[in-house]
Amino acid sequence: MVRHDKGRKVPDVNPLRSLILAAARNGSIRRVVATAPVSRDVVRRFVAGETTSDAVAVTRRLVEDGLTVTLDYLGEDTTDSAQAEHTVQSYLELLDRLHAEGLADRAEVSVKLSAVGQMLDEDLALENARRICRAAEAAGTTVTLDMEDHTTTDSTLRILGELRKTWPWVGAVIQSYLHRTLDDAERLAAEGSRVRLCKGAYKEPESVAYPEMTEVDKSYVRCANALLAGDGYPMFATHDPRLVRIIAERAEAHGRKPGSFEHQMLYGIRPEEQLRLAQQGHTVRVYVPYGEEWYGYLMRRMAERPANTTFFLRALLTRS
Ligand SMILES: Cc1cc2nc3c(=O)[nH]c(=O)nc-3n(C[C@H](O)[C@H](O)[C@H](O)COP(=O)(O)OP(=O)(O)OC[C@H]3O[C@@H](n4cnc5c(N)ncnc54)[C@H](O)[C@@H]3O)c2cc1C
Repeated sequence: MVRHDKGRKVPDVNPLRSLILAAARNGSIRRVVATAPVSRDVVRRFVAGETTSDAVAVTRRLVEDGLTVTLDYLGEDTTDSAQAEHTVQSYLELLDRLHAEGLADRAEVSVKLSAVGQMLDEDLALENARRICRAAEAAGTTVTLDMEDHTTTDSTLRILGELRKTWPWVGAVIQSYLHRTLDDAERLAAEGSRVRLCKGAYKEPESVAYPEMTEVDKSYVRCANALLAGDGYPMFATHDPRLVRIIAERAEAHGRKPGSFEHQMLYGIRPEEQLRLAQQGHTVRVYVPYGEEWYGYLMRRMAERPANTTFFLRALLTRS
């Protein structure tokens, strides 16, 4: 089996993948990783911490640096309604704190529907997402629904549609690696519609996704053009310097001023670029994960796609 990466053919084996997944399941390795000073620093580079207070402290620091934030309480793929309820409660507590500490106008939340019950029952996920949206409205901020693997795309967009009937500001996410996404981008580019465009993080079959990175990048530009040409509010989630440059050119060509779209990057990845864009007058939103499930988050992200492993390893070596 051969996989294409950046247009080159490479064997479809990530030698680290099975090792990482085995490590993720091993309790003693988890304890070592969680407590060793070096790995603790590494984890802290990408994850705000385990508690609401950790998340709020990192948010405050980023806001003081001129950035905006979206917070993700870690814990996806829940097949347990008590765990889904715990996730909802964590978001409600966080939203309260953001409001109380005067950060809600600069910090919103990102929610994975699988963490609030989507795999158990779509109606449960919708009801739980409604509770989070109600709390976000009371706090004076917004919610974005993260997009997960392609088997959940239709369900997530259905829930988005329901939520937007009451809260039109609920943000959508689309992934340029999926063949379907240009259609979704055109449909979602309506007035007031907040849409995050990313490449996509899950390992997807060729029947639904472009196998070559060059095709994923071209699709990203096509979708970016569709969003910029529309009346919505595009949110460009990428660390890719070439795409950041292209977005600047295309935004200008579409007459988009800074503030009518935003850049988004992950916490700990290209922090100097985040500041540079913000200093140029752009809105830059940092995606900040936090919570006790950080170990699974880092390990799964690395194992899902070979590119993710190098993605995090590269971030450890460079700040710009
Ligand atoms: C804010 C945000 C939200 C996201 N939400 C979702 C979501 O809801 N669903 C989903 O499937 N995915 C999501 N993602 C992940 C996304 O789909 C990609 O997997 C991830 O961002 C990697 O793609 P990339 O565009 O950054 O560039 P890549 O294709 O990984 O890299 C392209 C180039 O960018 C530069 N670069 C990349 N990483 C680094 C680094 N660590 N350090 C220095 N330079 C680097 C390098 O020059 C590299 O060649 C999100 C990403 C972000 C930033």
